[in-house]
Amino acid sequence: MALKQRKSRLNHNQSTSELSDSDTSEKLRVSSTTKVPALLGFMVALLVACYILLTRRYEHVQNRIVVLDDDFEARDASIFSVQEIPGKGKGVIAVRDIKRGEVVIRERPLFVVPSEINTSPTALLTHHLSLLTPYQYAQFYNLSYVNFPAILDPEIDLAELALAIFQTNAVQTNAVSAGVDSAGVFPRMARLNHGCSSAFNVVYSWREKEGLLVVHALKDVRKGQELLTTYTDTKRTRDQRRAHLRHQYSFHCTCDVCSLPDRKSKESDHRLMSMSELYAQFATWGAGVIDGVQAIEVVERIWELGSQEGYLSERGRLAADAAWVVAAHSDVASTKAWAKVAEEWFGYEVGVDSEQVLEMQMLQTQPEGHPAWASRKAMRVPAPTLSITA
Ligand SMILES: [Zn+2]
Repeated sequence: MALKQRKSRLNHNQSTSELSDSDTSEKLRVSSTTKVPALLGFMVALLVACYILLTRRYEHVQNRIVVLDDDFEARDASIFSVQEIPGKGKGVIAVRDIKRGEVVIRERPLFVVPSEINTSPTALLTHHLSLLTPYQYAQFYNLSYVNFPAILDPEIDLAELALAIFQTNAVQTNAVSAGVDSAGVFPRMARLNHGCSSAFNVVYSWREKEGLLVVHALKDVRKGQELLTTYTDTKRTRDQRRAHLRHQYSFHCTCDVCSLPDRKSKESDHRLMSMSELYAQFATWGAGVIDGVQAIEVVERIWELGSQEGYLSERGRLAADAAWVVAAHSDVASTKAWAKVAEEWFGYEVGVDSEQVLEMQMLQTQPEGHPAWASRKAMRVPAPTLSITA
């Protein structure tokens, strides 16, 4: 059984070998109800043990939340305010100009649960909610939700309401403490609405060591602009995006990209689909279908399409994967050059203080230290062109 979750795409740590599987998180969205398959009754003893372990860990996390929430919220107020937005419910508006790469939100989860569970989702959520402070409890129940059964009453059926809120707002964290494929609830971040392709301007990433979700500005944001993140991979056509968002999150997307006039929308669709296809092609380097030179040509084409589309997300990962390819072919100069590009773009998207940036800095110092070093035939592989480094 799986807990369905909304904002599940958080794959800034993917490696080249995983590129063809960028939507694995979607599989977590198996619908769930309170029904517990009879067979799983045998798991009860195991669950008791899990509960004890999980509870201990969360108590630790909870203590830190209480200490830090005030600071975080004071900082939020200096950057954005949560406001009513016509036709959208609540949204997050910048109260000052925000620079690309700036931290917009740092937030600890109210709680984290494994996506795959062997018990009733409502029972699990009720348990976690019982550990919250009254303030956190109110934060949780103030969150928006979709797909609440019409026959139930949200004032009375609190466990079902909690499930609807969780499914609407949970974010994939992959927190090791809760097992791989875990999901957390972040009430401040949850106010961010969705935008497709070039329309989203902030990106979130989970930091395992700090136990934090961080949101960075991917682009410069002007005072008064809405901060938008993306709930899913939007490198697909408008029709596909809208159908997916309607199905998973019950809204009709009217972001700037979905609102383009038809001709421009078709051009955008074409670029986004081409980017997806090129990502898939790039991943075939792993199986030796294309060589290093061809792989880097593909990266250059993805980059160019991204510039035309205004789709700037995932560039740190893309450049780091390019560095992987050139390191495998033992090209020192090219590895350093791609690592430098990756450092810059990771800096915007996941932060200059992120592990990814540190890793790329180390790679520039010692290319031969890359785990893929010399794992393929030695050859000269192109460094990034001026259109990438400029
Ligand atoms: Zn859209």
